[in-house]
Amino acid sequence: SPQQDTDAPIRLTDNDAALAKLSAVRQNYLSDPFIKHFVPRASFQPLRPPLINVGTFVRTVTIDDLVDQWIDLAMKEGKKCQIVSLGAGSDTRFWRLATGPRKDYLSTYIEVDFPEITMKKVMAIKKSKDLSAVLGSDVKLAQGGTALSSSRYHLLPADLRADPSVTLGSLTTGRVDAPPLLDASFPTLLIFECVLVYMSPQESNTLLQWFRSYFTSQSGGVLGAIIYEMFGLKDSFGRVMVSNLKTRNVSLPGADPYPTFQSLPSRFLNLGFTAARALTLKDIRRSYIAPEELERISKLEMLDEVEELDLVLEHYAVTWGLCIGNSGAQLKAPW
Ligand code: SAM
Repeated sequence: SPQQDTDAPIRLTDNDAALAKLSAVRQNYLSDPFIKHFVPRASFQPLRPPLINVGTFVRTVTIDDLVDQWIDLAMKEGKKCQIVSLGAGSDTRFWRLATGPRKDYLSTYIEVDFPEITMKKVMAIKKSKDLSAVLGSDVKLAQGGTALSSSRYHLLPADLRADPSVTLGSLTTGRVDAPPLLDASFPTLLIFECVLVYMSPQESNTLLQWFRSYFTSQSGGVLGAIIYEMFGLKDSFGRVMVSNLKTRNVSLPGADPYPTFQSLPSRFLNLGFTAARALTLKDIRRSYIAPEELERISKLEMLDEVEELDLVLEHYAVTWGLCIGNSGAQLKAPW
């Protein structure tokens, strides 16, 4: 009998994320000319409620801003930056960066996800002239069409819960015929956008620790990481409070290890990161989004329940951490 595929509901969350981004783009919260290429029959897809669109907007512009600031910091040190997006799904950030004002300061961009998801992404890239054009001419497929590499962009299939030195070895040690994809002397940023919740705390710590040791064992190495996640997920009865996980029937691995806002930065600090900070989407919307932008998005759709919006947004946070190798690069706030 066929084995039950317990990861199928986890992979389906990529579709949820892509549809949410597409909805926010169609309703003019965000501008992203690439997301439609990752969603079949994009213009026929249902739109998301205003509350979800606002949340998607806040989350996306916040991470975009942290990424931009990271690239600027690297640039000031006269270096290009490397980015690794773990559980990248249908994310378009590479294409937006590679066609944006900071495109010349990005040396390598790597995305990792389950092979089923990377294969879908490879097919979408091959099918779309807009997506392929950004990659340039030296695009190679590998591993049965689940992996793709080009001069800057690389898409790799891997289960992030497995031993990273085995599944992600091509990033740090290379292979017989190829050098490592990542240069330990370049400032490198990890992005975990709505991904770590599907792994146990131990598995995500192993992953973060593995990257940390590669980048900071060498002098001058600098590693940054951004985590976007829900927190305070379980109520006092251990029930999951987030509806899209309930409807997808995703069971979370173990107890929620970061139940409070205060505990979020400790994920990094406990692993020896130099500094870490967290903000909830509620606080970001209130205090960090430019007033003109808030004014602009407030006119896009009727949002009658601002209190409900805050209740939802205060359960989502962006946490970022920084780890500096022994020579001590100078990085400034917010990093
Ligand atoms: N980061 C993307 C975004 O924000 O649009 C996608 C987020 S989606 C909610 C979660 C993604 O993480 C899915 O694409 C899923 O396949 C991937 N993922 C979850 N657990 C994973 C694992 N153990 N190994 C590889 N990918 C994983």
